[in-house]
Amino acid sequence: MPITDCKIHGESWIVEMCEHLHKDLEKGIYQTYFELPVMITRMCLKCAEKYDLQQIIDAATYYSEKDNTWNITRNYGIIKKKYPDMPKRIDFIYRDIMKNRGWKCTSCIEQIQLNYARKNNLELPFKPYENTLMNENDIDEYELAEHIENSNDKIDCYVEFGTPSTPFKISIHGKVSTEEKQMIMKTIDTYFEKISRKQRVVNFSDH
Ligand SMILES: [Zn+2]
Ligand SMILES: [Zn+2]
Repeated sequence: MPITDCKIHGESWIVEMCEHLHKDLEKGIYQTYFELPVMITRMCLKCAEKYDLQQIIDAATYYSEKDNTWNITRNYGIIKKKYPDMPKRIDFIYRDIMKNRGWKCTSCIEQIQLNYARKNNLELPFKPYENTLMNENDIDEYELAEHIENSNDKIDCYVEFGTPSTPFKISIHGKVSTEEKQMIMKTIDTYFEKISRKQRVVNFSDH
């Protein structure tokens, strides 16, 4: 998946999709999608039927003894063994969809999915973290990481913005004592006192 610089979510993954899915999302409608194997392009039910997607999914489905699961391969080699012509068909469908395709940031899609579920009284698709810090909030993540690092000279700190389904993440690497951990947590708590969005997770790791 390629990366974009989303105004709301910062650096994030994007997905490509058929024009119909894209038009619906633009209108705030979230519908079930189907994925073209290997190319990971999303398509609506009508496109899935038009291109006989089920047959391609069947061709790409294989059993992994190692994980004891059924998977869909991203590897043309596996498909080719069973159906020599299938890779050509997948390429054709991909190019056909690309003529009018749309794309969107995956976190923006999540937000649309969440709003749509609420509006239609559906079960929420995931635990929402809308009150976590995202790229659009005026926070300098480097400044915060540096601020935390300055409180202890044995640590490296990384900060990751939240998405609708994941909280703002602070990762701290380095061997520190329990007391030092508490001091670091205090530094973070103090920093968040002036910030309205409090949802966050802090992870410590020894290395
Ligand atoms: Zn479509
Ligand atoms: Zn976004």
